[in-house]
Amino acid sequence: MTAEQIATVFRRLEKHLPEPATELEYQSDFELLIAVILSAQATDVSVNRATAKLYPVANTPGQIRKLGVARLKKYIQTIGLFNTKAQNIIRTCDLLVEKHDGEVPRTREELEALPGVGRKTANVILNTAFGQPTIAVDTHIFRVSNRTGIAPGKNVLEVEKGLLAAVPDRFKIHAHHWLILHGRYTCTARKPDCAACTLNDLCDSAFSW
Ligand code: SF4
Repeated sequence: MTAEQIATVFRRLEKHLPEPATELEYQSDFELLIAVILSAQATDVSVNRATAKLYPVANTPGQIRKLGVARLKKYIQTIGLFNTKAQNIIRTCDLLVEKHDGEVPRTREELEALPGVGRKTANVILNTAFGQPTIAVDTHIFRVSNRTGIAPGKNVLEVEKGLLAAVPDRFKIHAHHWLILHGRYTCTARKPDCAACTLNDLCDSAFSW
């Protein structure tokens, strides 16, 4: 896809949804961090259902730490990998209290040092909480980037680098959410809706399913 075509893609995505946002529900940077950790290999809907019960009881690192692993598990047991996630969240809360005054750190290095936080989660927090022009690549974004030809790549890091190079600066802040929502609702894994897709005259894979 040419640079001009890529700019057109993002102009159209912007027109369709001027202010895209995460579908995870949160009221603070910390609530977002926990929700993103929980969302690995789980749907946003399942995470929102769990945090709606958890956050009224505990929504700070100190409070979740006090809950402990066993009681935390009861709130998140409907989410995949909840055993590991509960342990990671408690250890993350320990570190936030001990090293960061209970605040979510603002650098990639500090974020990636937290248990349960990899590159993708750090990118989401840097972008969504702190407004940095990072682009986290999840399964939806990986698929859309490859199918459309915006940023083809064999692995998520290749696609992330391709997107950072290809997406015009003024669209970088929202690119993550535009692409994720496009993949979730239009360019789905099994049945992409090319007929209804606003990008079908630009996409490398349109109507090839
Ligand atoms: S045209 Fe089809 S394959 Fe291309 S982005 Fe749209 S839905 Fe996906």
